[in-house]
Amino acid sequence: MTCIFCKILNKEIPSFKIYEDENTYAFLDINPINKGHTLVISKKHYKDIYDIPENTLKHLILTVKKLSIPIKQATNADGISISQNNEEAAGQVIFHIHFHIIPKFKNKTSNKYKEGEAQKLANKIKTLL
Ligand code: 5GP
Ligand code: ZN
Repeated sequence: MTCIFCKILNKEIPSFKIYEDENTYAFLDINPINKGHTLVISKKHYKDIYDIPENTLKHLILTVKKLSIPIKQATNADGISISQNNEEAAGQVIFHIHFHIIPKFKNKTSNKYKEGEAQKLANKIKTLL
């Protein structure tokens, strides 16, 4: 399996982990729309919304819900967008199902982490869980 997200799960590629349970894993997006942009993936590889079994999808969306408030609090966001892309035409780039949790702000903010900032933010979100 050469999928990037499976490699993250296998720790072949590092990630800033936010949360993990039996079925799901969440980590900071490497190219965030805003700081705190988090991806929630299933531990088993499923391609997309068509492919994933209902029960696994339930686990995934419950993790999205669980993380939304801590991510909002840790980033001081004014709102949170949840998105999920299926197929290239819809903007899917990584073909391992994932939800995006994206903090949104009324005023423009930087989306570039300074040295050590991503790890600090990941830790802050974890403490708020
Ligand atoms: P998609 O467009 O498939 O819905 O979203 C894929 C997301 O994965 C993008 O937001 C992209 O920045 C993120 N991404 C791609 N490769 C990596 C990686 O190696 N590590 C992390 N943390 N995020 C990645
Ligand atoms: Zn995968």
